[in-house]
This record gives sequence, structure tokens and C-alpha cells, in this order.
Amino acid sequence: MLAYTYAAPGIFALKDKPKPTLQHPRDAIVRVTLASICTSDLHIKHGSVPRAVPGITLGHEMVGVVEEVGADVPQLRPGDRVAVNVETFCGTCFFCRHGYVNNCTDPNGGWALGCRIDGGQAEYVRVPYADQGLTKIPDTVSDRQALFTGDLLATGFWATRISRITPEDTVLLLGAGPTGLCTLQCVLLKQPKGVIVCEKSPQQRDFVRQNYPQVRVVSPRDVRAFTLAHTDHGGADVVIEAAGGEDTFQLAWQCARPNAVVTVVAMYDAPQTLPLPEMYGKNLTFQTGGVDGCDCPEILSLLAQGKLDTTALITHTFPLAEIDAAYDLFAHHRDGVIKVAIVP
Ligand SMILES: [Zn+2]
Ligand SMILES: [Zn+2]
Repeated sequence: MLAYTYAAPGIFALKDKPKPTLQHPRDAIVRVTLASICTSDLHIKHGSVPRAVPGITLGHEMVGVVEEVGADVPQLRPGDRVAVNVETFCGTCFFCRHGYVNNCTDPNGGWALGCRIDGGQAEYVRVPYADQGLTKIPDTVSDRQALFTGDLLATGFWATRISRITPEDTVLLLGAGPTGLCTLQCVLLKQPKGVIVCEKSPQQRDFVRQNYPQVRVVSPRDVRAFTLAHTDHGGADVVIEAAGGEDTFQLAWQCARPNAVVTVVAMYDAPQTLPLPEMYGKNLTFQTGGVDGCDCPEILSLLAQGKLDTTALITHTFPLAEIDAAYDLFAHHRDGVIKVAIVP
């Protein structure tokens, strides 16, 4: 089968690989019907994910049809349409039992698919702990609607959940890339008093204005003064940093009001400075990290109800055979691209 492979540092290539087989009773084999390219894939290419293993098939965001299940995956059968979770988790260790599935202590726990084990930019993928990591897609939800369930929407849903947004809050969201836009939809479900989106790209700012007229949009240059002017207590009540730019972590805490929650979901290429003397007395609560992707049933239910809809983010679709061109377009932000879907 065709599989897009991390051949060596800096080199991705489409290769012919054997179709995966069940290796454990909790495995499933999924025939991939739609996959995506994620910014994290580019991080692998650029060497900023040291745990990525050369030789693996890329891809950690996909939907498909169950081809085969092991004996210990009783809730799924061949033919079921499923969303694949970005994270592999056992469901029984200390962290899994507390919902912290990103830190599952299993050797394959956390982000393994398309990083440390073969992922889904391929015709088939083996999913370990399929009883935890696969969620059935309701009949009324299309593949394109469900595509971001396991990674981007899971991230946005989790970031929103841990930010504990109330109806009195004004939320500042830094970054309107794919993660920011999925987070925005989840934030809006909480119906906060106000939402401000800060984004550097004029094209992305226009996208937010057109699709979310209820949201205020601002550039990074103006965000501090703008947030001060449009909030009641000297800054945003909740800040979600989903940009990962050079100075966006500084903007995140500077735009927060005293005693605010600052949730950092961005992935940075460089260490960030936490200037504690400057922020002394501001008494902020910081939350950081990678998604605990265990809300997929609720996300799919919200998709089925039409409360979430991220299909507008899929600006381009390529067949797997042309995935090199898809990466090139995505990496260079050409042609108004937000997300690329890959059809195996
Ligand atoms: Zn991703
Ligand atoms: Zn676990």
C-alpha cells in the first residue's frame, strides 16, 4: 500500500509498504478514507520533534472504516466508520483514569501515531488500544465533517474545557490558524460575554470576520491596547494562546487581567521566558500542554447537532499519490490554504 513516510531528517517520501496487520487483541486495522496534514507533521520534518522515528508513516488526524478488529475491541466491527484519536491510551493507568490520556504510561501512550508508530497518511493504519482511540462516526456526519475530531477539534475542546470559561468572561484567543479556529468554535459554545481573536495574517483575520461576525478581530501589534479597551478589568478574563509565535507567549500574559487563566496550547520552536518579577502580584494561573484527547464522543455529537462545523477549514483536497504537492502548498501557505485533506 502507499504510505507517506518520514524517510530521514528533512525528507518525506511516498513509499510502498505492506498493509498493516493486527499485532494485539486491542488493535484495529482502519482503511483510511480521509486524512489531513498537520503543522506537527512539518515540525517532524524540521527536526523539532526529536522522538519522531525515521521510517514511520506520517499522519495523526484521520477518519476511516474499520477493516479488522482484535478480540478485545468488542464495541467495533468491520464496516464501522470511525474517527481516529491522535493519542494512543490504555484507559487503565493512573493518568488515563484521571482523563490525562496524553501522559498515558504505556510505551505507545500519548502521541504515537504518525510519530513513533505508523500513522494515517496511508491506505491503512493499525490503531493500538482501538477500544479507547476509535470513536464511531454518526451516520449523519460526513468524513469531511469528522476529519478534525481526533486532533484539532479535540485540542480546541480540551483547551476550552480546562479554561473554565463563564458567561461573564471576555476570552482572548491568540492565533487563528487551524488550531485557533477549532478552539474558537468550542469557545463560542460556552457563550462568553466577548471573544477577541488576535491573528497576524490579514487573510486569516478576514476569514474570522466573515465566518464569525460576533467576534472582535485584531492584529498582534494592536492587541494589548485593544484588549484593554474592550474588557472591564484591565485585560482578558481568559487567554488561550494557540499561535506559538515569537512573542505570543509574552502577549498572552500581558493581555490577561489580574487573576486570569492563561491556557497555552501552542507548540513553540524555542524556549519561552516566564518573567516572574514583571508579573509578580498579577496572580495568573497558567495551564500548558498537549491535548488530553478523550472528548471525541462529545465532539462527534456536537458535529451531528450542527453545533460544530469545521468543513470550511478544508480549503484543498489531494489524492494520496499527490501528497508531496499538498505538503508543499501547506508548508508555504499558498493559495489561501488552511487545511489540506488527503484521499487515499
Ligand atoms: Zn496535529
Ligand atoms: Zn494509560
